[in-house]
Amino acid sequence: MTAKIISGREVAENILQDLKKRVDILKKKNITPKLVVVLVGDMKASASYVAQKEKFAVKAGIDSEVLRFNSEISESEILNQIDEINKDDEIHGVIVQLPLPDHISVTKVLNRIDPKKDVDGFTPTNVGKLFLGEETLVSCTPKGIMSMLESTGTDLNGKNVTVIGRSNIVGKPVSILCQQQNATVTMCHSRTKDLNAKLADADVVIVAVGVAKFINGDQIPSGAIVIDVGIHNIDGKLCGDVDFETASEKASAITPVPGGVGPMTVCALIENTIIAAERI
Ligand code: NAP
Repeated sequence: MTAKIISGREVAENILQDLKKRVDILKKKNITPKLVVVLVGDMKASASYVAQKEKFAVKAGIDSEVLRFNSEISESEILNQIDEINKDDEIHGVIVQLPLPDHISVTKVLNRIDPKKDVDGFTPTNVGKLFLGEETLVSCTPKGIMSMLESTGTDLNGKNVTVIGRSNIVGKPVSILCQQQNATVTMCHSRTKDLNAKLADADVVIVAVGVAKFINGDQIPSGAIVIDVGIHNIDGKLCGDVDFETASEKASAITPVPGGVGPMTVCALIENTIIAAERI
């Protein structure tokens, strides 16, 4: 079997066109959704993610601003900045680009964000609401993954989903979202025994491990849908947590790297900013 490629770029473009219509409606009410990105330091990878966010914001017709700080900024100065953003009615969404320098507590900074403006969905309030199945701003990568699965026409009801990785930003939230759609979810992590057995009856495999080409075609059940969250630069070439060449021979559909989950994550961020603006 040769897998269908689930193009995150294409799915994101379609969603952005719909989002633009929602933005036009808001603009008629004199509301222009605005996203602020807080960027500390000069990490090359962070700068390129931020550039992609700005590009998508333009496509959807929303405003975006990057607040840049050098890596010497103190924790209290960053917290003060967050307070100012929280008070500013013209700003609907804020994210803090991670990682932060070691002297700044990520937990303190993220917890300071007003949950109504927390478009990354990382605050305890929004994570709690997700857990309880309440309406909330859902974190972007899991939200993007769910949109991609939806784009394939997959009904998760009664399906087996194996998630590899239990991080707070990917593995845990995507497991909850799949469970809310009545999938039976198996969550795997570094202490999981016999990973291959956990994959054997999976209809959908979601891999967020952070190890290049960690999963290969031999481990993928024939016909499964594979969502590859990982992103690695190996000798100047990007690849995911899944060995695409072998996995695409077994899967019925698979996300590429690049052009898979990455653009969907950014698209979800833009959608969350629009949702935050619609709620005011
Ligand atoms: P993370 O916080 O490092 O978590 C990795 C998870 O993988 C952990 O739960 C860990 O288990 C598990 N793991 C590690 N080794 C394993 C093994 N041998 N067997 C089974 N599980 C194992 O990573 P993350 O933030 O979720 O990100 C994962 C990957 O996705 C990274 O490559 C990251 O760059 C990428 N990513 C991409 C996007 C995007 O938009 N494209 C967004 C977010 C992340 P333990 O909990 O037991 O340690």
